[in-house]
Amino acid sequence: MARKGDRHRTAKQAKAQAAVVLAAPVDLYLAPSPHPMDVHEQPLQLPCGCRIIQRLQFERKALAYFAIVWVAREPLGGWEEQYSCDTAHGYFHEHVHGHRRARDRNDLRPLYTHVDVQECYDEGYDLVQNRHDRDCRRES
Ligand SMILES: [Zn+2]
Repeated sequence: MARKGDRHRTAKQAKAQAAVVLAAPVDLYLAPSPHPMDVHEQPLQLPCGCRIIQRLQFERKALAYFAIVWVAREPLGGWEEQYSCDTAHGYFHEHVHGHRRARDRNDLRPLYTHVDVQECYDEGYDLVQNRHDRDCRRES
């Protein structure tokens, strides 16, 4: 029969092993590097002057990656990203201030297959459209 100290150690080891299992990397879905012919960019012009730009990547006719971006016209010309969501890095995630600013990424859910990408598409479009409708100050 094990002494008290041994049992303690065993429990400690079991805990450590469980932590390793929990921390093990999961196989998240990453879209293959796109062939340029498989990427489609679709800008939608809104009445207020903003645009919602969709970047869609297809693999064998299945949606493999998307980015949906709300951009607004800058006072001095050009376009500034306001909000976007996309499926890179294995996560469906949003960029709440425009992806060039620090700490603006918010993961919404992990992606395990391209089917998860397809299932997130409608929600992604709604997120961008709703954020625009809430925050656009250029509404005429
Ligand atoms: Zn707008």
